[in-house]
Amino acid sequence: MASINNAYAGLSGNYLFSEVARRVSAYRQKHPETEVISLGIGDVSQPMIPAVIRALHKAVDEMACAETFRGYGPEQGYGFLREAILNHDFLPRGVNIRAEEIFISDGAKSDIGNFQELFGEDAVIALTDPVYPVYEDSNAMAGRAGTRENGRWNRIVYLPCTAANAFQPDLPSVRPDVIYLCSPNNPTGTVLDRSSLTAWVNYAREKESVILFDAAYEAFIQDDSLPRSIYEIPGADEVAVEFRSLSKTAGFTGLRCGYAVVPEKLTARTKDGRLLSLHDMWLRRQCTKYNGCPYIVQRAAEAVFQPEAGEELAAALAVYRDNARIMLDAFRRMGLSAFGGVHSPYVWLQTPKAMPSWDFFDLLLERAAVVCTPGAGFGVSGEGYARFTAFNSPENTKKALERLEKAL
Ligand SMILES: *Cc1c(COP(=O)(O)O)cnc(C)c1O
Repeated sequence: MASINNAYAGLSGNYLFSEVARRVSAYRQKHPETEVISLGIGDVSQPMIPAVIRALHKAVDEMACAETFRGYGPEQGYGFLREAILNHDFLPRGVNIRAEEIFISDGAKSDIGNFQELFGEDAVIALTDPVYPVYEDSNAMAGRAGTRENGRWNRIVYLPCTAANAFQPDLPSVRPDVIYLCSPNNPTGTVLDRSSLTAWVNYAREKESVILFDAAYEAFIQDDSLPRSIYEIPGADEVAVEFRSLSKTAGFTGLRCGYAVVPEKLTARTKDGRLLSLHDMWLRRQCTKYNGCPYIVQRAAEAVFQPEAGEELAAALAVYRDNARIMLDAFRRMGLSAFGGVHSPYVWLQTPKAMPSWDFFDLLLERAAVVCTPGAGFGVSGEGYARFTAFNSPENTKKALERLEKAL
């Protein structure tokens, strides 16, 4: 019999969303007549914008003619898309990266899950808590997390983000090799401000750590003074990788496209102390294990970055923004403490009287037939919170909040 990667044996099950589904289905069996409304949805619901659909049709037709057919493309993505991203996302904000530093992929989750391969098996990883589980699990799968006790791995450095520190994580006392940051944050919906992000970049420069910055929700930022890219902070191009995605920005959760920025100046050390370029290593990795994002998808993505698409994209995002604002207003009327929801589709609610988050989940389901996501499922520091998403329809969101105002 083949022996396995033993790290998989130590993983915790995908408990959070399966447990939510189990409890909802038990409730439905007991109350078949009641309509359950989910404010736990983690997927966008607005259709893709017309500009993207047109680009898709055109690219599909190109595949039907020998003259315009495309086979294997460059592993790191077509130049037309890398240039479009550079001109739309980075140059207007004064970020001087180059198109060659942008790697196109089938989404940020794969990039984030894969990138840890470039680090040593003994690298120390720091994560914010609560956390998007991919950072933690991908390192656990690589055998870098140690053993798990009371919901935490003993080799991972956790950076609590709670109301007590206004969701701006404190610098760690133990030096990590790799630091995962996510802003705007999933699940808390809060944003790292310029001074926090600057402190992290300076810390990483001083300690020779690498920051893996997840900016999947940057399109939701409404305040122009907040950083959208970590490269807006001077010196970040020597210490940070940035991951972005069209999933939440433009409804690509099903179509699949994302990109990673790996600057040429970014280096890390071999065991014997030599500096190697993470850019060159990532290129080598992608060329070996990946054959590129589909041509038609890259053409669809290109359409997202054209100025003409701006209004259509903004209209789709406005639906989620309005839902989030309505949620925030309702929770505050109820006298509850709610965070996030302004530069993000997520509202992070403090449970009343510090109620455990699974008890709060059950209470909302029983009294209002409304589904949230218990904060404890995202990490130890998520206990006492619940995540609400803005991805349901405006009608359902309003209806759910009316029920909650009556029930709580
Ligand atoms: C949705 C999401 C992503 C994007 O994932 P894709 O694979 O591009 O769909 C990345 N990071 C976080 C925190 C997310 O919530």
